[in-house]
Amino acid sequence: MKVVVQKFGGSSVANLERMRQVQEKVERKLNKGYKVVAVLSAMSGETDRLLNLAEDFSSRPDTDELDTLLCTGEQTSTALFSMLMRDKDIKTRSVQGFQIPVHTDSFFGKSRIRNISSDNLLNLLNDYDVLAVAGFQGCDQDQRLTTLGRGGSDTSAVALAAALDAELCEIFSDVDGVFTTDPNVCMQAQKMNRIAYDEMLEMASMGAKVLQIRSVEFAKKYNVPVHVRSTFNDIPGTLLVQEDNNMEGALVSGIAYDKNQARITLVNVFDQPGIASKVFNPLADAGIVVDMIVQNFSKENKTDITFTVSKGELEKALEIIEETKDEIGAVDILSDTNVAKVSVIGVGMRNHSGVAGIAFKALDKENINIMIISTSEIKISCLVEEKYTELAVRTLHEAFELDKSNSESMET
Ligand code: ASP
Ligand code: MG
Repeated sequence: MKVVVQKFGGSSVANLERMRQVQEKVERKLNKGYKVVAVLSAMSGETDRLLNLAEDFSSRPDTDELDTLLCTGEQTSTALFSMLMRDKDIKTRSVQGFQIPVHTDSFFGKSRIRNISSDNLLNLLNDYDVLAVAGFQGCDQDQRLTTLGRGGSDTSAVALAAALDAELCEIFSDVDGVFTTDPNVCMQAQKMNRIAYDEMLEMASMGAKVLQIRSVEFAKKYNVPVHVRSTFNDIPGTLLVQEDNNMEGALVSGIAYDKNQARITLVNVFDQPGIASKVFNPLADAGIVVDMIVQNFSKENKTDITFTVSKGELEKALEIIEETKDEIGAVDILSDTNVAKVSVIGVGMRNHSGVAGIAFKALDKENINIMIISTSEIKISCLVEEKYTELAVRTLHEAFELDKSNSESMET
């Protein structure tokens, strides 16, 4: 049995007319001899509507009941889509997360998938040509409904593709694919034909919000080929694949940015064992995600530690740091929300020198000051003043010649 998973986002199932376009995409695969698992999101705006509704009923709705509520959004899409398909005599049925089942942990609102049994789905695929599966949802060991976090149907789709050993997982949305940078910031942004999982993880984690990050982690772990493309045209999108030698030809694949950063600097802390632990463990215990961390070499047993957190968590982070201030010997705690992180990403830089130099020269040319630099094998990130974000993105995009359209074409 040839199985393909096709995921359709909220705007693709927003109304009858849009669902007919989805129907067409599904039928095309059926005509090629595939069984189709169509993973659907809630109709656009529906998840937000339900969240608002909950707030009308309770000042602090419990997350378990919120999940039960939110699951109705995806459920509605699957039932309506099945009806549409059946009108065309296509054997279709709706399937909810708990019916598969998609087993998750019990962190309501941000559950993680533990396992998916494929038996039920494979049995159903003997009787049906199309399964309209509710994305974003699962159930925990107590049979309570759970959801996977906003954008979670991407993860449902990739996880199902892995469980079913599907040939391909197509993610349809209202964008044409993954771009070399945000087209709203840089008009020269180009759609990429292919991107390595690791690059996509970096792009997704830094504001290129095409896919939920978890879905890319799944795709990488289980080697699922993912094709990100538009519901509203037939242009091939971007293929997420394992890194290969061809990719090393290009130094850099994309430029990402993240304005949701705040900087904290601990001035003159003791340079001795245990200080970093005293700073970062309480933050971790409070669930605060720390991004860039920089500590310099010290000469006189005192040093500065600078790190970034998301803007929304700055206040909480400062409160926690305040408690250890004396113990770590900090003479001052500084913070700044007027910062943004701009990152140059590419697996090609693993084996090339000089990439950082090109990036720094480009920023210098525009007189943009770099506050923090951090690097990994495939990424160079610079913290800059927030007002320079767009300029920094554009100048880096140009410096790495990402505006030259890639000629390689792809099969659909
Ligand atoms: N409906 C959910 C959301 O709006 C899940 C999804 O669309 O992926 O976040
Ligand atoms: Mg969505």
